[in-house]
Amino acid sequence: MNVKNMMYAAAALVAGFAGVASAATANGAICDTAARVGSTTYYSCSGSSHTALDMSNGTCSEWNHRAMIAGSRYYAYYGGCAANCSGGTTCNGGAGNYYVVTGGSGWDFRQLHLNANTSSGSKTCDGCALGLVGSTGNSTGAHVHADNRQYGTRKSAWYTSKGTTCGSSAYCGNVVGYPTL
Ligand SMILES: [Zn+2]
Repeated sequence: MNVKNMMYAAAALVAGFAGVASAATANGAICDTAARVGSTTYYSCSGSSHTALDMSNGTCSEWNHRAMIAGSRYYAYYGGCAANCSGGTTCNGGAGNYYVVTGGSGWDFRQLHLNANTSSGSKTCDGCALGLVGSTGNSTGAHVHADNRQYGTRKSAWYTSKGTTCGSSAYCGNVVGYPTL
């Protein structure tokens, strides 16, 4: 085995340890048929780069920030931010209170900005309510932000492949994308 092939073998070994990523299905975050997507690749549809989905139904602090990935998944919770409905803080690097589902090969799926309550915390569930819809961190109003990242870089394919755009339904009974995990 030459040096180049050894490097490939080592990379394959690391990828193996990290797990193999595969496609998942993500439903809308809020169980209200009026819930809509307000930002996709750009903030407010035409602002600066965002590369994620923002979903809201015009309410704050309602127990309706739902686990989006179809099927039973482990949601790791990162909290510590005081609840609010207007945002504009740097808590947790701007993420506010948030959840992460970890996949293989550097992929993860995050749901940001919730107002926590006593039932918020790391858990395994299928579509359960994770917390109150809120505006913790770098946020300008109560909503659920969802992104699919690989090694920390947000990707757009998971929602563009579904055809989710600004104004699309964010109802928990509808599919909004196919994240890689
Ligand atoms: Zn967002």
